[in-house]
Amino acid sequence: MSQLLEKKYEELGISKKVYEFGECVEAELKERFEQIDSNAEFNQMKVIAAMQKNRVSAECFNISSGYGYNDMGRDTLEHVYADCFGGEDALVRPQITCGTHALALALMSNLRPGDELLSPVGKPYDTLEEVIGIRPSKGSLAEYGITYAQVDLLADGSFDYDGIKKAINEKTRLVTIQRSKGYATRPTLSVERIGELIAFVKSIKPDVICMVDNCYGEFVEDREPLSVGADMMVGSLIKNPGGGLAPIGGYIVGKKECVENAAYRLTSPGLGKEVGASLGVIQSFYQGLFLAPSVVSGALKGAIFAANIYEKLGFKVVPNGTESRHDIIQAVEFGNKDAMIAFCEGIQAAAPVDSYVTPEPWAMPGYDSDVIMAAGAFVQGSSIELSADGPVKPPYAVYFQGGLTWYHAKLGILMSLQKLYERNLVNID
Ligand SMILES: *Cc1c(COP(=O)(O)O)cnc(C)c1O
Repeated sequence: MSQLLEKKYEELGISKKVYEFGECVEAELKERFEQIDSNAEFNQMKVIAAMQKNRVSAECFNISSGYGYNDMGRDTLEHVYADCFGGEDALVRPQITCGTHALALALMSNLRPGDELLSPVGKPYDTLEEVIGIRPSKGSLAEYGITYAQVDLLADGSFDYDGIKKAINEKTRLVTIQRSKGYATRPTLSVERIGELIAFVKSIKPDVICMVDNCYGEFVEDREPLSVGADMMVGSLIKNPGGGLAPIGGYIVGKKECVENAAYRLTSPGLGKEVGASLGVIQSFYQGLFLAPSVVSGALKGAIFAANIYEKLGFKVVPNGTESRHDIIQAVEFGNKDAMIAFCEGIQAAAPVDSYVTPEPWAMPGYDSDVIMAAGAFVQGSSIELSADGPVKPPYAVYFQGGLTWYHAKLGILMSLQKLYERNLVNID
């Protein structure tokens, strides 16, 4: 079998040297992969339990149109999300177009003029800078008289508790906590650390709303931020919880009041959750959620494999090869533009879709430098599918994530290594 497999890899363009290097690294990861499998098993049971409790039936997959009144499939799915993630209520809609939209919706609907938003974990994800108004933008929170305060993490990655205490004032209404590192090289926060931060914030101001940007975090651990005191968690369905099948969508899960505010903002005051046809996508939301725990486990294995490969080759990887995982993102700092581009070309070349195209750096809406993106996805921009991207500026870090199956993630990483190897950008001899 291994000879047949090696030959198949060779047909795909992976040289013997690269393949063998990969096999050595993989052999060392057996125990970690077993832990990931048992976490996936636990989360799979959680999803099934939530579906059974809410009596998911074939009728839930019916297509609604127009206003979408009494859309049982949509309403039931929202109960499933609430139970699965530990919230009182949920808004899970195809009308939420992406993660940024879900986050903007959660913020704009729960903040009022005169309120202040606080990020106690440093700069938020790039696209949120325009939502908040850190970079001036039409329709930002700043335009509506909502101010913003930020407390950076300390140099060692810990919370600046003194700074946070000083920053919380009578105007502070909502605290936003980004779980994943996004395009920063700070560590991703574990659910446990998020819980510590929320407890501290609430000890100073109990009625402040704590929101977690949960993008890329779902199902990586055995619990989610709502179980450690968050009032709201928010994410994208073309990342983890959509399991690769959801073609669009976002979610907000949490306290009833927070979700209600978001619903009135998404549709209209007075209408809220009652309208919003699910068109034909609802079955893929269910099926994607059902598959998500195993899909996430494949993506996690890919991230850990990549970390161990590139760490061995002397690059800085965040998280490092042995660290515990709290999201599916792997950053590799190449410190070199050519190596960054070669890596992305390898990911692209390994894709089931668009494998023949060459990714090029490009100016993207919402980002302040050129971005290179490699993805050959079934769903455009889906980053639970194998993808790599990063802003083309020092330290030339690539953010690698996804893989609907571990085997595809593995091929992608081997192909990236192949490209670097062919261009003499690494030494594996
Ligand atoms: C992806 C992501 C977002 C934005 O989601 P989009 O779907 O790209 O708009 C926000 N925050 C974090 C941490 C993310 O990873």
